[in-house]
Amino acid sequence: MNAIPTNLPYGLNEEQWQAVSSPGQAIAVIAGPGTGKTKTLVCRIAYLIKECGVHPSQITAVTFTNKAAQEMRSRLEQHFGNKRTAAAMTIGTFHSICLQILSQWNGKNKITIIDEYNALAIIEEIVKRLNLKISPRDALKGISLLKNGALAADNGKKTDIPAAVYEAYCSQLKGYGVMDYDDILLEVLQRFEEENAGGSHKNSFAYLLVDEFQDINEIQYGLIKKWTGKSGNLFIIGDPDQAIYGFRGSDFRYFDRFIEEFQGSQVRLSQNYRSTSEIIASAQAVIFPQAAGERTCSLKATRGSGSKVRLVESNDEFSEAIFVAKEINRMVGGIDMLDTQTLAASHKKRPAAKQTRGFADIAVLYRTNRQAEILEQCFLKEGIPYVVAGRDEFLADKPVRETVSFFRFLLNPGDITSLLACLKAKNVTSTDGNLKILDRYVAGKKDITALVNILEETSLPVSKLDASEDFIKLLRKYQPILHKEKPGNIIDSWICDNHLSGIKSMDLLFHTSVMHNEMSAFLQNLLLGRESDIVRSGSKDYSPEAVTLMTMHAAKGLEFPVTFICGVNDGMIPLRNSNSDIDMGEERRLFYVGMTRARDELILLTSRTPSPFIADIAQEQLITEKAFKPKQMFQYKQDSLFA
Ligand code: ATP
Ligand code: MG
Repeated sequence: MNAIPTNLPYGLNEEQWQAVSSPGQAIAVIAGPGTGKTKTLVCRIAYLIKECGVHPSQITAVTFTNKAAQEMRSRLEQHFGNKRTAAAMTIGTFHSICLQILSQWNGKNKITIIDEYNALAIIEEIVKRLNLKISPRDALKGISLLKNGALAADNGKKTDIPAAVYEAYCSQLKGYGVMDYDDILLEVLQRFEEENAGGSHKNSFAYLLVDEFQDINEIQYGLIKKWTGKSGNLFIIGDPDQAIYGFRGSDFRYFDRFIEEFQGSQVRLSQNYRSTSEIIASAQAVIFPQAAGERTCSLKATRGSGSKVRLVESNDEFSEAIFVAKEINRMVGGIDMLDTQTLAASHKKRPAAKQTRGFADIAVLYRTNRQAEILEQCFLKEGIPYVVAGRDEFLADKPVRETVSFFRFLLNPGDITSLLACLKAKNVTSTDGNLKILDRYVAGKKDITALVNILEETSLPVSKLDASEDFIKLLRKYQPILHKEKPGNIIDSWICDNHLSGIKSMDLLFHTSVMHNEMSAFLQNLLLGRESDIVRSGSKDYSPEAVTLMTMHAAKGLEFPVTFICGVNDGMIPLRNSNSDIDMGEERRLFYVGMTRARDELILLTSRTPSPFIADIAQEQLITEKAFKPKQMFQYKQDSLFA
């Protein structure tokens, strides 16, 4: 069955139009993947502006990733045929919007935010000082859940973090005058709760629209309530079957709270416009296995039938990655440089791809960031342009951390944690000596000149003189060019000055920097990257025509004509962590999110015991195939390119 064209505005179907044109103030659109929820939200904004005389500056739209925010902005730009209208709206993630509000409130006083690594370093010290035997990472998780109000809400989550650790951590941050990620949201919520706060900002929340509502947590729900305020205009969309952030304290029961507290009305959508009927059927089988209870959102395919979902079996992760690379080259009609014979043989079994694809039509998804590495290797060898989106492990690398600390401190000399990290990294004096320098610095004027004076006045052992001089030189060199030069040039020269060339993580940092025009935007994006969308480019020239590699979490809300999901193995999907229980429901929903990104072709890859979720898909819905014959694999292994 094909979609029946309607005569409704914006090409919407009846249900979508009902939501877009609803006279109600609090409206929830609850529907499955690919049913046009985001489209409906975009059209609602257009409708408010065109038909109801709402000014674009009165619109605030919240999503969960920067990528989704960009996507929403570009859909609006297309809709209005100009950039101006969307530019007047506030569109962003909870974190970016809160940061914007805080900056407005604080005026010239810079806000200093510490990243996860600095937070971990602080906790490590506290745990040591209190002589406790808990892992700093677990402690940070517990603290985060506490701050997000996840533990106050009755949703069965618990933490064993001693109150002393929590308190010491909070007071340490206060002492340094810094905030962590969670504080960004907490601070805004608290200040909105104080009566006179909000002030001038209140007008901008006349119309609040929230995408991916299933992923909000207690504090975000609190923000939504405050931001909606008296206007009462709240439009939320979401899909309980795609809730994948339970570990961060989100809970789809907030839908019920919304209905109750806002007397919201509900609209359901059921036509899926994204995927072929084969993809929908397989995904539905996963999310609604026979044994499970009621269906929340049913999906009807409008696009009709296409090719079957493929389950490709390999011997190991390595063969799996080679297969993906070769298959991508086949799809885009590229030439296989490695082994044309084998490729030709494998072609015989399969009909040639019906249409030619571009690299940008293809996404390769996986459960954990770690899986990207082997894929990257194979893509580089096969000459496939790619971008890896997602929270980047490279930020944990020492030289990267030192670079980021240095420039963060230069941009904001009030950032004491970054200064301490620099002193440590540059090995300027002993730990005690560093703390003394820090004390003097905090007591005096907090700027670069003052720091240079202190460093010059501090009597240092001869062995440390070079280090200190070196540090002063760097401060003097980079401060004046910080706002003048492009981030790419700055990082390039920093790499040279510090002899960091050839280090892979620094290359990645450089590639990320050239995508920005300003140092502060670059650093901020790195910081908010944990919201899952820093993009790093594999090829030297950043090309928009590239395959996307990302986790299933990061892929939420996006769609691709061709979607590969790697590592569909037991233990990976669902992911078995040694120290925590598996939330089977959430893992199942995550796999469902991954599968439903595909428009035309879905290819699942397994190299061990297949994921138990595969068993829920009926045999006849899948084509099972081997990636390579054993002999072919032997040939690849011998190839020196992959040595
Ligand atoms: P997800 O839950 O994955 O975020 P969604 O419900 O937000 O999905 P959209 O991304 O808005 O879905 O839409 C999926 C695809 O269907 C898009 O390509 C969109 O343009 C298309 N689409 C949505 N509604 C219609 C419609 N009425 N007619 C034709 N195409 C539509
Ligand atoms: Mg969407």
